[in-house]
Amino acid sequence: MSNNRDNKKTVLFVLSVDTEEEWDWSGEFPQKNFSIDNVFRLSDFQHLCNDLGVKPTYFIDYAVAENDKAAAVFKQPEFKENCEIGAHLHPWCNPPYFGHVSDKESHVVNLPIEQVEQKLASLVKLLSSQFGEQPRSFRTGRWGIDAKVMRLLTKYNFTLDSSVYPFWQNEYFSCHGAPERPYWPNLNAPLQEDNQQKLIFELPVTAGFNHKNSSLCEKAYRMMEHPTLRWTRITGVAWRTKLLRKSYLSPELFDVPQLLDLSKSALANGTQVLHMFMHSSSLIDNNNSLVGNRDAYKYITEAIRSYISQLQQSVNLEFCTISEAGKRLSEEQTSNE
Ligand SMILES: [Zn+2]
Repeated sequence: MSNNRDNKKTVLFVLSVDTEEEWDWSGEFPQKNFSIDNVFRLSDFQHLCNDLGVKPTYFIDYAVAENDKAAAVFKQPEFKENCEIGAHLHPWCNPPYFGHVSDKESHVVNLPIEQVEQKLASLVKLLSSQFGEQPRSFRTGRWGIDAKVMRLLTKYNFTLDSSVYPFWQNEYFSCHGAPERPYWPNLNAPLQEDNQQKLIFELPVTAGFNHKNSSLCEKAYRMMEHPTLRWTRITGVAWRTKLLRKSYLSPELFDVPQLLDLSKSALANGTQVLHMFMHSSSLIDNNNSLVGNRDAYKYITEAIRSYISQLQQSVNLEFCTISEAGKRLSEEQTSNE
């Protein structure tokens, strides 16, 4: 991104919001009788974004979109041209249903692709009829992407994916090795870059380590996390001394000074976009909120306001929706080849 006359760097800023029901993260995966009270705070939230200039992207899931009152929230004037509506697939509450869902099946990448396709088709149909246009951006529920899901997205005309959760892997899915910068994914191996295919662009959330060389840090961190090495104490020391702190640009997970630290390292690494993410369910006090019962709306909105205003002291933020950012960044990558 360019430098302006005031010598501040200009960087794109994206906020993505997984827009979904409140649910118990520790319990079963519900298929009906959801509470979606949080969605009714999004009108105030959008007003705040409009004040700040932020253009949020709402990745909306089936449970929210099928509720006419919830869908009507996004048709209010404050949302018009100030946000983007994308698709968010929670397989456990998105018809058609195929039996019991355990932790494993709650991750889209672990389902047979025929099931994913039927669920995605019904989600796209619902979002298109509720909001008058087809969604172009997508995020899987609980993160993760593979070749079959990525190819399916292109079949349904999605042009942007944001399912990569950098530096993360567990027993159900892995994003290990994926670039943390935006990239054209290889459709046969979407955690790898491939400049030959230009159908769908990947825009991961901003993540990193509190150190300049993120990929080197990732190797060190993974080595220290290895269960056969009893280095837990060392990882703890490294965390405390800020050498290897893994962090994500989310006000649910980190406080404002940590978010600013991460942003500064991302900028020092040459990032062209800061991509913050959160869940709509974190906007209300509930037992399942990542933020917890502590005036969640006030906590989250004050954190975002404070983060943006402090960051703007050192950089110019250019606010855009995720597809706008994807278009800008992919065109730059293409013209630089
Ligand atoms: Zn979700």
